[in-house]
Amino acid sequence: MSPKIIVGNWKMNGTKEKVHEIAHALTTYSNRLSHEEIQNKTQIVICPPFTLLPLLAECLKETPCLLGAQNCHEKLSGAHTGDISAAMLLEFGVSHVILGHSERRQNHGELDSIIRQKVTTATQAGLTPIVCIGETREQHEEETYTDVLGWQMEGSLPNDFSGILAYEPIWAIGTGLTASPEQITETMCFLREELIRQFGKSGKTIPILYGGSVTADNVSTILSIPEVAGVLVGGQSLNADTFLHIIEYQCL
Ligand code: PEP
Repeated sequence: MSPKIIVGNWKMNGTKEKVHEIAHALTTYSNRLSHEEIQNKTQIVICPPFTLLPLLAECLKETPCLLGAQNCHEKLSGAHTGDISAAMLLEFGVSHVILGHSERRQNHGELDSIIRQKVTTATQAGLTPIVCIGETREQHEEETYTDVLGWQMEGSLPNDFSGILAYEPIWAIGTGLTASPEQITETMCFLREELIRQFGKSGKTIPILYGGSVTADNVSTILSIPEVAGVLVGGQSLNADTFLHIIEYQCL
């Protein structure tokens, strides 16, 4: 079985103290097991706010944990006040970047076309994009909600996409509501078919993560679903004990 990908998205939370707390927990964990044992089971990616990246990079350097960012600009440099480029992230040892999170789509008006440009730029710079898609509650209640997911994929994924896809139903993010295993399986199968339709053979291997109120209690059930390559964890990635429980999941 390939290692499950566990991504922690701190959103606009965290302090230097939080970095030390989480890094301590992850270092203790990685001292307990060999790096090989950890890497055979999980690929851990922590995505703090930009300002904490250098400190987290320093604190995690003896662990197999990877560093991710929560966004980047679609250009590599230029007159874009307040933005951060993929090239700048690479300088700090960042390997992954979350793009098209629903909070960016909703709060910053990020359209599929912009996300697609970001994905291309990030990939060309050497980052692995984690592209988020997901439907609202209203869309979910309509039978055709998968159409929405299909449009988001067509709009946000460039033709040569080789990153990670994250299915995050918006109604499950930060709400304590999680999609049921049946719903997750059904949607994941749809997304896989769609990836194959869009990308042919390479669509078979693109990892698909689930995100939306993942906790220490439900992570084992979710990661036991064969179609789920990993999880994107928001709120619960900020609590060191809970996040460790998530990383230490046991497949049922
Ligand atoms: C997220 O931020 O992508 C997320 C899934 O958040 P939460 O786990 O808090 O629902």
